[in-house]
Amino acid sequence: MTVLRDSIPEFEFSVPVVIVGAGACGLTAALAARDQGADVIVLERDKRPWGSTSMSLGAICAVGSRSQRDNGVDDSAEIFVADVIAKTDGEADETLARRIGERSGPTVDWLTETHRIPLSVDFKWTGLGHSRPRLHLPPGRTGEELLSLLSNACARAGVEIMTEAYVTAIYADDNDRVLGVRIQRPGGVVENLGCDTLIIATCGYGGNHEMVARYIPEMANARYFGHEGNRGDGILWGVALGAAVREMSAYQGLGTLAEPQQVVVPHPLMIEGGFLVNAEGRRFTHELANISGMCVPVLAQPQGIAWVIFDEDRHQACLAHSVDQRQLEEVGAIRRAGSWEELERLCNLQPGSLSKENSEIESVRASGEQDRFGRRFDNTLPPLKAPFCAVRVTGALFHTQGGLLIDENARVLREDGSALPNLYAGGGAARSISGSRVTGYLPGAGLCMAVTLGALAGEDAARAALRSPA
Ligand SMILES: Cc1cc2nc3c(=O)[nH]c(=O)nc-3n(C[C@H](O)[C@H](O)[C@H](O)COP(=O)(O)OP(=O)(O)OC[C@H]3O[C@@H](n4cnc5c(N)ncnc54)[C@H](O)[C@@H]3O)c2cc1C
Repeated sequence: MTVLRDSIPEFEFSVPVVIVGAGACGLTAALAARDQGADVIVLERDKRPWGSTSMSLGAICAVGSRSQRDNGVDDSAEIFVADVIAKTDGEADETLARRIGERSGPTVDWLTETHRIPLSVDFKWTGLGHSRPRLHLPPGRTGEELLSLLSNACARAGVEIMTEAYVTAIYADDNDRVLGVRIQRPGGVVENLGCDTLIIATCGYGGNHEMVARYIPEMANARYFGHEGNRGDGILWGVALGAAVREMSAYQGLGTLAEPQQVVVPHPLMIEGGFLVNAEGRRFTHELANISGMCVPVLAQPQGIAWVIFDEDRHQACLAHSVDQRQLEEVGAIRRAGSWEELERLCNLQPGSLSKENSEIESVRASGEQDRFGRRFDNTLPPLKAPFCAVRVTGALFHTQGGLLIDENARVLREDGSALPNLYAGGGAARSISGSRVTGYLPGAGLCMAVTLGALAGEDAARAALRSPA
């Protein structure tokens, strides 16, 4: 991924705002730029926009939204900042966290009210680092639906999305001003497009094995379960232009990716009383302590795998609201048994292991005490009862959290704090609010950074472009 400063071509076409990447960040940025009256084009390498956004659950963390207020949730930027700081052990950038706390709710309201993308707060996902219910989902509760709602809104707003448009280089002058982009089209055709401002929405670098090995060595050999096309291109352009990066070792992981079927096991199964054991049938962690950080203890177990243990009642309850749970059933990932002994045999676990773990859980549930990992089992929930279920899982890298240093309007910054003349970044391409480790990731933060920074970038880039037309 290159920045070309010599032999700048004559741009036959030029657009005020060019956006690279048609995920949640790129499409939200496009809507915001159109709202300001700017012409905008989104360039997407794939045949149809998909991205990590479509692979996600579509749960966006947002603070102070109308949906929260209508449901009696009392939330504020201050409360959010305190949650972020607690989750990251004080590592997250407080100024950025505050900005996100102030702008995420209005962004979700704007998407809902102006662009007909209905997002409402979900009460199933509580806790896990959020002291208030903050996850906002579309009605169908999938990232795929979120992306198609955004795409439809873009079509209504007159945003052009050019697919099969792989940006391979950017052109810049000696003052680091971006002049345009080089696009590889099908059949090896190369096109050049000029711009007044460029928004990088190419997500992180999870699909770039060299970068993962360099910045996140603990996940160098782990499965990457994000969008393969996210190879850090935008981060590399920014750095080549002189931008600074932050928290490159941060990432969102998951300890419960069905292996080998590669379907995400819904976390509510464990919130509702399920638990994890290793290949020997022994529990090894507090299952609710950290969803993202769970990949590390799971990968450290024998064979790098674990089993999620739950029951048929929880499975049925989860089926009602989770596409992933339906997929687990469809691909035959769920093993079922009428007794703990039978489940141990089916999963090749040590005889007596599951019944022993379950008895220990039942006794701490009855006493209200914490178990040996510090987990408290909610005694208002019924105990697991036969038929029992198990899914074999492993740990995976979902998406990276480090990226380009940005200011309060998502303008990309150099190490000395000065802004590059006309470059913006958001979503997985920009730094996040997760600190430097896997444990700092708050559920919903990935899409929150995508839509909130996307909206800020789109608005500011459009204003800047309209101030200085080409
Ligand atoms: C399984 C899974 C579940 C998740 N669930 C959630 C969740 O519920 N809530 C949450 O907040 N986060 C979740 N995340 C994280 C979330 O999906 C991401 O943080 C978010 O989608 C990032 O949005 P984005 O627009 O930055 O990137 P993407 O949606 O990945 O979009 C980036 C786009 O850029 C394109 N691109 C890249 N390079 C180029 C190039 N050179 N030229 C042209 N196009 C290019 C890519 O093809 C891609 O379409 C999940 C992630 C995974 C993998």
